[in-house]
Amino acid sequence: MDKPHQIVSLEQYEPYIGAETIDRILEKSRKLRDLHVAHVNSTYYGGGVAEILSPLTLLLNNIGIRTGWRIIQGSPDFFSITKKMHNALQGDKINLSDLKKRIYEEVIEENAIRNHLYHDIVVIHDPQPLPLIDHFRKRGPWIWRCHLDLSSPNQELWNYLRKFVEKFDAVILTLKEYARKIDTPQVYFRPAIDPFSIKNRELSEEEMQDRLDHYGIPTDLPLVVQISRFDRWKDPEGVIKAFELARKKVDCTLVLLGNVATDDPEGHQVYESLLKLRDERIIMLSHQDTALVNALQRKAAVVVQKSLREGFGLTVTEAMWKGAAVIGGKVGGIKHQIEDGENGFLVSSVEETAERIVTLVKDEKLRRSMGKKARESVRKQYLITRLLEQYLDLFASFEANFRLVKK
Ligand code: UDP
Repeated sequence: MDKPHQIVSLEQYEPYIGAETIDRILEKSRKLRDLHVAHVNSTYYGGGVAEILSPLTLLLNNIGIRTGWRIIQGSPDFFSITKKMHNALQGDKINLSDLKKRIYEEVIEENAIRNHLYHDIVVIHDPQPLPLIDHFRKRGPWIWRCHLDLSSPNQELWNYLRKFVEKFDAVILTLKEYARKIDTPQVYFRPAIDPFSIKNRELSEEEMQDRLDHYGIPTDLPLVVQISRFDRWKDPEGVIKAFELARKKVDCTLVLLGNVATDDPEGHQVYESLLKLRDERIIMLSHQDTALVNALQRKAAVVVQKSLREGFGLTVTEAMWKGAAVIGGKVGGIKHQIEDGENGFLVSSVEETAERIVTLVKDEKLRRSMGKKARESVRKQYLITRLLEQYLDLFASFEANFRLVKK
């Protein structure tokens, strides 16, 4: 008889990370048992943050740390402001009017009234819920986890936000190169993926074909795929241009799959602006279908992630885990995941992207060997259990007065 749906437990990761690592994590968790933790972010699906919080919060509970996950609510104008902030933190201009600040702070104050964050540890993700810190009397450390590429933020916006950031007890950034000059201690955690999620687990040939057939995706030619929120930082237009160049030399089909996160009001506009570029071999889909993401990453001859800015780029990790040959923009976290020419390619222009597409479509052996190395690199560095352990170490390193003790 089939087993009922089972929530994954830490022990099940043993084949990937070994018994010693499992024991070490369990040992660390024993000292933190019954800690009450809350994570807060602004969307329950549609981006890397939700993707991480889903398995991370389950695993923390599995090892005895009572961990909740709250999502702030906001009107479309609130999310339009926070998306502008998101863009400006990655280097865009912003007209930071008093009205924008007022809406931002008021919506967060409303959320503070509805959410009772009297936990031992509170982890706030990204800028949207940042001002929550002003509304609670801390019972333990508050941590700000910023997932963005903070290497060159708009200065005016950063000066405004840092007054919230500096009230936190620790800041987690993805990479050291995103560090800011602030008094709050900063630590660096790279994101990670869950090999057991619907997005990443093994699929049978029929399951994959079923998903592709469902959306009418042809498999007669090699597939070149980019899967990303419809966001201009992901450069979908650049991907189409590169594909147009590449298909002069090789036959292939491009699939752009995207979703629109609830905290990203620009997504529809970006998607609609691309529709005119569609043709028989340029397929654009806007759906939230996790199994389709999985199937496409597995079926693709080439996975592209031609981002212009990228805090980390979980889509790259996911595709590498599936043994795909990935072409990634030489930016942010992508350039730390792909070792150029070894386990994928890094690119800085449309032309280079086109060239690499042609090379990979033509050379199945190269795709295989790159994909193999890619999977091994994810196994070693980017599985969720590594991130879980980093959180445990961070939690354990606070002294009674919430000061972070560097070990
Ligand atoms: N994603 C998805 N469906 C889509 C597009 C993206 O499920 O149509 C997922 C993707 O698989 C990944 C996450 O959204 O897990 C995107 O994370 P990433 O770090 O690549 O970018 P972000 O959206 O956080 O900027």
